[in-house]
Amino acid sequence: MPEGHTIHRAARDHAELLQGKTLAATSPQGRFTDGAAKIDGAVLSGTSAIGKHLLYHFDNGQVLHLHLGLGGYFRIYQQPVDPPREVTRLRLEGPTHALDIIGPNTCELIPEADLPALRMRYGPDLLSDMPEPARAIAAIRKSRAPIARLLMDQKVISGIGNIYRAEILWLRGLNPMTPGREISEEALKGLWDEMRELLQLGVETNAIITNGRPKKGEPITERTNIFAAETCPRCATEIEKSKLSGRTLYHCPTCQA
Ligand SMILES: [Zn+2]
Repeated sequence: MPEGHTIHRAARDHAELLQGKTLAATSPQGRFTDGAAKIDGAVLSGTSAIGKHLLYHFDNGQVLHLHLGLGGYFRIYQQPVDPPREVTRLRLEGPTHALDIIGPNTCELIPEADLPALRMRYGPDLLSDMPEPARAIAAIRKSRAPIARLLMDQKVISGIGNIYRAEILWLRGLNPMTPGREISEEALKGLWDEMRELLQLGVETNAIITNGRPKKGEPITERTNIFAAETCPRCATEIEKSKLSGRTLYHCPTCQA
């Protein structure tokens, strides 16, 4: 499952290749033939993301809503493009590039007017241009559930996956099992701000980097502190691994007591 920053990054990359262009839309697999016909020949006016949902806005008022789910993925081709694979749900082809969408969970057209409702179904998106920290903080402060679970609950907050969860709780010195309602408003405000900064850096670099902004000229690779680590880089205590809702949770029992 991609973490939130990869979806925002995809929205940005796809806009760079296709925005402002007239696109040919087809459904080689045949499962989105009617939908493709409604956007075929339209101009892509922009892209956006809500958590793990991608939105492609067309100049004829149609909005393509995509959720890749666990197995969905993209393929990008440069002109002259290869013929699409048979499993391709939707191909969007512009003058320079084509984007293939394969195996998505959701691929549908929704009216522009339904976007606010879609937005309200999910917790505030950490990378939104219109951030709503107060809504996320209120949802966390109402809950008895552990903060580690709340951060991964897309109805509470959008954008955090397993790696960012482990890292952010360690950076803030928070025990993952602390009930949401026991965390102060200020602490949650600080948590929100730092999560947003980390995800913004993720979009910028296309890598999960949680141990400081890379210096100029430094190679960009994934760099974390405690995720899948043996010992804590701050205090050398052994990192504790446990399971929560089927996902591995990492934490330092000393720094996150
Ligand atoms: Zn430690």
